[in-house]
Amino acid sequence: MGRVLIIGAGGVGQVVTHKCAQVPEVFEDILLASRTKSKCDAIASALDRKIETAQVDADNVSELVTLIESYKPDLVLHVALPYQDLTIMEACLQTGVNYLDTANYEPLDTAKFEYSWQWKLNDRFKAAGLTALLGSGFDPGVTNVFTAYLAKNDFDEIHELDIVDVNGGDHGHPFATNFNPEINIREVTAPCRHWENGDFIETTAMSRSQEYVCPEDVGTYTIYRMYHEELESLVKQFPTLQKAQFWMSFSENYLTHLKVLQNVGMTRIDPVMYQGVEIVPLQFLKAVLPEPASLGETTKGRTCIGCIISGIKDGKPLKRYIYNICDHEEAYREVGSQAISYTTGVPAMIGAKMLMEGKWKGSGVFNMEQFDPEPFMQDLNRYGLPWKIVTL
Ligand code: NDP
Repeated sequence: MGRVLIIGAGGVGQVVTHKCAQVPEVFEDILLASRTKSKCDAIASALDRKIETAQVDADNVSELVTLIESYKPDLVLHVALPYQDLTIMEACLQTGVNYLDTANYEPLDTAKFEYSWQWKLNDRFKAAGLTALLGSGFDPGVTNVFTAYLAKNDFDEIHELDIVDVNGGDHGHPFATNFNPEINIREVTAPCRHWENGDFIETTAMSRSQEYVCPEDVGTYTIYRMYHEELESLVKQFPTLQKAQFWMSFSENYLTHLKVLQNVGMTRIDPVMYQGVEIVPLQFLKAVLPEPASLGETTKGRTCIGCIISGIKDGKPLKRYIYNICDHEEAYREVGSQAISYTTGVPAMIGAKMLMEGKWKGSGVFNMEQFDPEPFMQDLNRYGLPWKIVTL
């Protein structure tokens, strides 16, 4: 059916490449490019299908344009870092190729998460007749589609949304992050924002928590309210939402390490001078922490991520929970990665498949909930992320 260029050979890139390789009828040709070509070669060598590899600096538009023009993909599937969203989108516009990512743009020097920069490109993608699909991971991504699916099939109107992301896994390291450490720590230390009665309300980072009992014996975890980017698009697409919050589980151990790192200045994102050289403490910290792609071998336990939605059906109040449970060890057996990379990489492949098959089409910049959730939901069951719905 077509050619895909995957950019980024980290934890998520590894899963996406494996999953695209499993669907040769859609992804006929695959090129994996990243900053370090040897990482692309290592991923490609574990697969029994031919995967081409290349080196690219995705911060550099002209390098990207040269690579895209030489390979001529139908889609660029971006799973490098959010800092590269705008350069890759620009290169797609210059070469006339569709675009997909899993995380919204962030400027390097400000921990600010919002879609404004990418939404601004809507007119240019529209005029070019191209599709840009934003946030096709799990959260954002599947959580947006879960919300759209329940809103469409189960409710007349949705009023409250709680997205709950529990990682009940243990990687066995004293401290490590399950996805890119720099992005993870910037996200967790940013002020919290939630939607209430028509506005975003800001509160101190990690200041609100509760105990959460997961279904199917995954366990009981402390979840903390934090800001997550899908809230921004979901409240726009579902204006009946009166309250929308995002919660994530963290262990005491993780939070203690994070507090110490913050207290000693290691999470700073502004440059400091060290022996005559400028370094950014958080980037240095990333260099000494385990890479997310390396955690698969040791991680045990399960993730449980889903949406709790309340609203009205036939004039009566209704509350439903839709979720997926993913096992770290099963993910590792299948693709050599832990479940956080797996739960991001599988929806990235499915989002790409939706665009390649023309099941999702349109000119412009789109968030996941703007398309028909049905074919995506079917593919979640088919490609490794089955879901359930319960009434609460
Ligand atoms: P990793 O740090 O494991 O991988 C990032 C990869 O991008 C690395 O291979 C890195 O190269 C490459 N890269 C970084 N900068 C450049 C550049 N300038 N040019 C080319 N390649 C570059 O991160 P993850 O795989 O864990 O995360 C990937 C993305 O997925 C992130 O944007 C993250 O925010 C997102 N994500 C989304 C989730 C969701 O549910 N929506 C959940 C988890 C992650 P090198 O190896 O040389 O450093």
